[in-house]
Amino acid sequence: MSPAANLIHEVLPVGWLQCNCHVVGDAATREAIVVDPGDETERILEVIHRHKLRVRHIVITHAHIDHIGGAARLKEATGAPVLMHPDDYWLYKNVELQAALIGMPAPKITEVDQPLRAGDELRWGGVLRATVLHTPGHSPGSLSLYMSEPEKVVFAGDTLFAGSIGRTDLWGGSYDAILRSIHTHLLALPDDTIVYPGHGPATTIRDERERNPFLRGL
Ligand SMILES: [Zn+2]
Ligand SMILES: [Zn+2]
Repeated sequence: MSPAANLIHEVLPVGWLQCNCHVVGDAATREAIVVDPGDETERILEVIHRHKLRVRHIVITHAHIDHIGGAARLKEATGAPVLMHPDDYWLYKNVELQAALIGMPAPKITEVDQPLRAGDELRWGGVLRATVLHTPGHSPGSLSLYMSEPEKVVFAGDTLFAGSIGRTDLWGGSYDAILRSIHTHLLALPDDTIVYPGHGPATTIRDERERNPFLRGL
């Protein structure tokens, strides 16, 4: 991540679909958030314990099984609330069906503790802050989490990837909506913002604006 002082950032690709789970903590206060605990809760907890972190929020970028499969167990282990956009609650309620469709065992389910909507701000640690951007298209409740200066990073879920965009042929997906979301909310961020997609390598807003073939003409 950025050279911002006092920041702990670990990326763990978890589960069969290798969803990028992020642990983002404040080294001074040991408070952290976890983004997209898709699976392998033990590995996530190992990182949390190694850094002696206390989890303040569990943030879900969208309710596909590979991003939320480990949320119930992580909540049990840490006591932290689970947060997501209300437009994906129905997807989470159908996580058993999602599991069946890809031939996986159904994960444990929990309650969503708090809705996250466009413009909401999360605060944790001493000074860490992130703003919720509602970026529907891959799913109706897909969100991106933006940390402005000094971190300058955005956790984009499955909305924007290095050289690609999220698929829109799944439940409630919309190609028009994802392009609009990327154009309105992500390409509007400063060029040097680091993008952490839900799968695969990190990129920057500049690289995607200049090279992503799906964004030509946007
Ligand atoms: Zn997804
Ligand atoms: Zn995914």
